[in-house]
Amino acid sequence: MSRLDGKTALVTGGSRGIGRAIALDLAREGATVVINYHSNEAAAKAVVDEIEAMGGTCHALQADIGKPEEARAMVAKAIEQLGGRLDILVNNAGITRDKSIKKMDDAMWDEVVRTNLGSCFACMSAALPTMIEQHYGRIINISSMNGQIGAFGQANYSASKGGIIALTRTAALELASSGITVNTVAPGFTKTDMFAEVPEKVQEQIKTRIPLARLGEPEEIAKAVTFLAADGDYITGQQINVNGGAHM
Ligand code: NAP
Repeated sequence: MSRLDGKTALVTGGSRGIGRAIALDLAREGATVVINYHSNEAAAKAVVDEIEAMGGTCHALQADIGKPEEARAMVAKAIEQLGGRLDILVNNAGITRDKSIKKMDDAMWDEVVRTNLGSCFACMSAALPTMIEQHYGRIINISSMNGQIGAFGQANYSASKGGIIALTRTAALELASSGITVNTVAPGFTKTDMFAEVPEKVQEQIKTRIPLARLGEPEEIAKAVTFLAADGDYITGQQINVNGGAHM
């Protein structure tokens, strides 16, 4: 018997990087999984194939979750595919559009805030009627160390990630009586396509600031998510920082 046998999960941005690792780990523990993706259908299909190859069940749903109506329709479809039950919602999808505040325009601000933060609200509120009816839910929002400490050139991103932490606390307060826990996992610098976009020189400087002296692996973030989903019954409104000690 695995820890998440019989449970159902939706992972936004589950086709690549951290979301992919989360989807695989939840499936490995027995959950039936729906992954959402935006544009890279081949990557999503590869995750579905990988989960099915290990004997699990996975569906992929395309949606731009930065658009609230698409996010809500995607969650409704996921719940249908999962047989009317949604136990675990992982709000993971995220983007960066970096520029200093002096150079950042409204479009860059808006795209990042609605994709990273707005999507958490839209997906969570779309999932709530089902979770409340079940009197059970595990919502895990992926924030970032840069939402805790700020980051040069990331006003939009760090505001969205700090907002996720505040949203998590309020949701945890409002939903505790419905059997729903809401927590944040805040990764530090993690080996994914998103980090690969950081200029190489900056990557080298970043590594010198990490006490454990290396980047995180997506699988190390996934373990914290699975822990909250499987063993976090008395944990709500909290943040788990998985950052190699880069922020304590
Ligand atoms: P990634 O490798 O760039 O993957 C992003 C995922 O999100 C992809 O599956 C992508 O789908 C999906 N996505 C992007 N925009 C979307 C949209 N509008 N609608 C639906 N899906 C969308 O990113 P990552 O590094 O794994 O990051 C995952 C999460 O961890 C993000 O929230 C990020 O902010 C956070 N995080 C990452 C790091 C890091 O160092 N990597 C550090 C701290 C926090 P497509 O490929 O189809 O576009």
